Amino acid sequence: MVDQQYKLIINGQAVATNQTFEVVNPSTGAATGAAPKASLAQLDEAVSAAQTAFETWSKTDDGTRQRACIAIADALRDNAEELAQLLTLEQGKPLNGMGSRFELGGAEAWARHTAGLELPVKVLQDDNQGRVELHRKPIGVVGSITPWNWPLMIAIWHIVPAIRTGNTVVIKPSPFTPLSTIRMVELLNQVLPAGVLNCVTGENEIGASMSSHPGIAKIVFTGSTETGKKIMGSAAATLKRLTLELGGNDAGIVLPDCDPRQIAEGLFWGAFINGGQTCAALKRLYVHEDIYEDVCRELTNYASSIKVGDGRSEDSVLGPVQNRMQYEKVRDLVNDAKGRGGRVLIGGEADDKAPGNFYPVTLVADLDNGDRLVDEEQFGPALPIIKFSDLDEVIRRANDNPNGLGGSVWSRDIEKAKKVASQLECGSVWINKHGAIQPNVPFGGVKSSGLGVEFAEEGLVEYTTIQVVYQ
Ligand code: NAD
Repeated sequence: MVDQQYKLIINGQAVATNQTFEVVNPSTGAATGAAPKASLAQLDEAVSAAQTAFETWSKTDDGTRQRACIAIADALRDNAEELAQLLTLEQGKPLNGMGSRFELGGAEAWARHTAGLELPVKVLQDDNQGRVELHRKPIGVVGSITPWNWPLMIAIWHIVPAIRTGNTVVIKPSPFTPLSTIRMVELLNQVLPAGVLNCVTGENEIGASMSSHPGIAKIVFTGSTETGKKIMGSAAATLKRLTLELGGNDAGIVLPDCDPRQIAEGLFWGAFINGGQTCAALKRLYVHEDIYEDVCRELTNYASSIKVGDGRSEDSVLGPVQNRMQYEKVRDLVNDAKGRGGRVLIGGEADDKAPGNFYPVTLVADLDNGDRLVDEEQFGPALPIIKFSDLDEVIRRANDNPNGLGGSVWSRDIEKAKKVASQLECGSVWINKHGAIQPNVPFGGVKSSGLGVEFAEEGLVEYTTIQVVYQ
């Protein structure tokens, strides 16, 4: 794959660039390939191709769009292994476990489900005073900006609802993981009309230029809160529609009636899915004092059985941190926690000189709000554990954070758990699990975790504008 030529995809054609940038394998530091660095003129070409395609695509009937989305799902299924291998090579996640093959399976499932969603004309009134219909119309060119943690699945979350509702797309993947998106877009162009789906890659400036571009009508962005705020600022001048899926710092609250051994596996994967590099992963764990030590012990036991290694090895279930910047952030947060009296239960030491960005699975107990590892989104394989005694107080601490993406409550008493859940300030709350998302359920954050939702009908309507027809 190192020798493969990756090009921009504009108007159904592979387009070369004057410059390229290197993409590395986070397991080894070796080059995975060279990504094309688009110029601003090439971004304009991509937007203009999408605008031209919009003139036809927006007028297609519902069945045509639905068939196109099913064809996308089929193409993902038919090319899953090739894309999974490339994804592992640039993202680092293992092929197995909840890794690349799982991500491709998710992408296909989301595409297929979204293909089947409908937004029929709604009759608001039909009487002797008249008839009023509500129609959903496509918006125009959708600019999609994606992160490096789940690059293909998130790309599909953006692309498919946009195309399903008659929009056209220009996607810009993260500079850390651009190659699998280029290849996926190339494959999807085999089943889509030219210009409906375009891909430009480059550094962050391309994303900034998209959010102020007059030819783009909507930005759907998944990434950090900091970047989301910048996008919102630069999108203001052209009054773009926005869907922003931003950072999270999800709290999990474990009530004293839980069986620590029974919940350890669920807690672990809630926190460490994709090495903790997941927006709605469990990032702060609050455990009642009665079972605190038992939960710490069971989690440590479970964590010690996890095989971390090169993503290409079939027996790895977790891979490296995706990039050096993130590795250093996780390492610094854990070091800070240790300096503040955090008790390391497992992990906590990494060899900076070893190849790749491997940081061990790390559990740090005896922390509290006010410690950076608790307050900040670590986005990596390190979980802070906090002891609590009073339920109202722990709910206050869980909510004492600018983020509001997800949360979880763990208890055998479902009614009690639901009462706690209703007091958490977040877009999704899980009971006795964490982070499970589905294509038929809307997902989005409150507070600084975002604007709008994705998935299901509620997500689909965000790719439309309303037109009411009075007769
Ligand atoms: P990031 O914000 O650094 O980058 C995301 C994308 O934005 C990349 O494509 C990047 O090139 C682009 N970008 C950077 N600067 C830009 C600018 N000024 N204008 C426009 N685009 C710009 O995020 P990341 O580090 O790739 O991803 C990690 C973050 O994403 C975490 O905070 C995580 O919680 C969040 N995330 C959220 C969700 C969700 O659904 N809420 C899902 C996945 C990740």
